[in-house]
Amino acid sequence: SPPLPTDSPVGKLGDDTFSRYAGVELFKQLPLSKNTRDGLRDCKYTKMTDIQRASLPHSLCGRDILGAAQTGSGKTLAFVIPVLEKLYKKRWGSEDGVGCIIVSPTRELASQLFDVMKAVGKYHGFSAGLLIGGRKGVETEKERVNELNILVCTPGRLLQHMDETPNFECSQLQQILVLDEADRILDTGFKKAMNAILSQLPRKRQTLLFSATQTKSVQQLARLSLKDPEYLSVHEEA
Ligand code: ADP
Ligand code: MG
Repeated sequence: SPPLPTDSPVGKLGDDTFSRYAGVELFKQLPLSKNTRDGLRDCKYTKMTDIQRASLPHSLCGRDILGAAQTGSGKTLAFVIPVLEKLYKKRWGSEDGVGCIIVSPTRELASQLFDVMKAVGKYHGFSAGLLIGGRKGVETEKERVNELNILVCTPGRLLQHMDETPNFECSQLQQILVLDEADRILDTGFKKAMNAILSQLPRKRQTLLFSATQTKSVQQLARLSLKDPEYLSVHEEA
């Protein structure tokens, strides 16, 4: 069985060490920071779902992921955990600005995943913002957006900030990009917006792409956004 996790060994994980965690069943068997482990415990998450078990050993090593698994399979934690661990490992702080952008197709899905991020990440010191339009004026957001560490956005609102917000520093985003429910992002007619967003982000980053289905357009988006990805497809019998 794998060695017990110490506080933050993630930084020591090399590209070859993921196999050590392949097949483990419980979150506490993964090399996670204490902050993340405590957040998971408070939320009563103990056993990984199939997509989490398949993807986390790779994503925690810094690899790009294309993860396909049906709705309800637990894709949110499969990216929330590596986002928290990456920023923790980089000692990301309040002055470092935006270190992670998560793109979600709809306001509802974005706010749901934002709640999961807040709950599981509550022992970390990162600031996170929900940029989805509608609720608050974009002008208020523009003043704060550069101070946030984690942005959870719909594609339209993210593009609006990229176009309009002075000094919106996505070129600082050297850390991690998440494209959640990618099939729905593309179905919703955001293909052009996604291309524009990707063209404005730095190439050097980790990218996690999750989708319920693997359509042609998801594969195109994967080709555009991922580097040497791990392809993980999990289909549970109904
Ligand atoms: P998806 O994005 O694949 O549709 P979600 O991430 O929204 O799935 O998760 C679906 C449900 O499963 C949520 O209610 C979530 O709290 C729950 N869930 C996710 N992972 C776990 C887990 N490891 N243990 C228990 N429940 C989980
Ligand atoms: Mg989801």
